[in-house]
Amino acid sequence: MKGLIDLLARRYIAGTHRADAIEVARRLNADGLRATIDNLGENVEDAAEALLTVKEYSALLDDIKGSGVRSTVSLKLTHLGLDLGYGAARDNAQEIVKKARGLDNFVWFDMEGSAYTRRTIDIFLDVHASHPNCGIAIQSCLLRSAGDVALLIKEKAPVRLVKGAYKEPPEISYASKRDVDKNYRALMGELLLKGDRPAIATHDRRLIDEAVRIASENGIPKGSFEFQMLLGIKRGLQKSLARQGFGVTVYVPYGVNYLPYTLRRLRERKENIFFVLRNILD
Ligand SMILES: Cc1cc2nc3c(=O)[nH]c(=O)nc-3n(C[C@H](O)[C@H](O)[C@H](O)COP(=O)(O)OP(=O)(O)OC[C@H]3O[C@@H](n4cnc5c(N)ncnc54)[C@H](O)[C@@H]3O)c2cc1C
Repeated sequence: MKGLIDLLARRYIAGTHRADAIEVARRLNADGLRATIDNLGENVEDAAEALLTVKEYSALLDDIKGSGVRSTVSLKLTHLGLDLGYGAARDNAQEIVKKARGLDNFVWFDMEGSAYTRRTIDIFLDVHASHPNCGIAIQSCLLRSAGDVALLIKEKAPVRLVKGAYKEPPEISYASKRDVDKNYRALMGELLLKGDRPAIATHDRRLIDEAVRIASENGIPKGSFEFQMLLGIKRGLQKSLARQGFGVTVYVPYGVNYLPYTLRRLRERKENIFFVLRNILD
């Protein structure tokens, strides 16, 4: 089973080391795509581990600068100690965003499961108030997200709109994929018309076409928003959008803690589940 997951991971992960991610970013740049590099990891259990994450991001930001690749970074607050305390995670995130600012770079806050949504937004807003070089992911699967998007638009905070990769309780989330997509469409319209440098992060062709239509009908310049996709998914579409002059950023994860990320990618695509089942049953 581990071998199968490793095989799947190869599609979605740059490698285990920082240098692997920089190399992938370099290749993406050559195709006209930007990168946002994520050091894989979540739910750290002690403060020393969280500080190691800060150190790794600091080295990553230096390597991005040193190598000249066009890449931002993406992080998760539980990788920075959110389970250990609000203050520690905020201070750690702030340190990374501050370092990025000194290097003229930008930090995306990923959004984790709903147990962390409120705290992730609070910490993000706290950091963003003094360091505007950061943005945050919002999930269209959650009922609360329309209110969050309105608040973030008011705060002029860049939003990366995603559908959501975590299984959420029915009381707080949309029940069907159709409703998640419908909410995505509505939030995407708000962000394109009123948001500050929003990122439309989806591989859903219909939603991407709709974003292009909204932008063209409303005279929204191509440079004022971007598309984002994950490494290993819809490579042709990424390049085709870039060729049409749209900004396209590819999320590039690296590191040894690739299991939870790979399992989320496995779950969202039934072909991946069939691949694993077929190989187990063979
Ligand atoms: C840049 C970026 C950052 C993200 N950050 C977060 C985050 O912070 N928090 C969070 O909860 N989620 C995040 N996600 C994941 C997101 O929530 C979805 O789980 C994921 O993008 C799949 O949804 P979709 O929008 O592509 O639509 P879907 O309707 O799921 O997929 C549309 C099409 O994309 C292709 N596709 C989708 N997933 C896969 C896959 N795993 N393998 C191969 N093909 C696939 C298929 O062709 C599918 O038909 C992020 C996604 C992106 C692109």
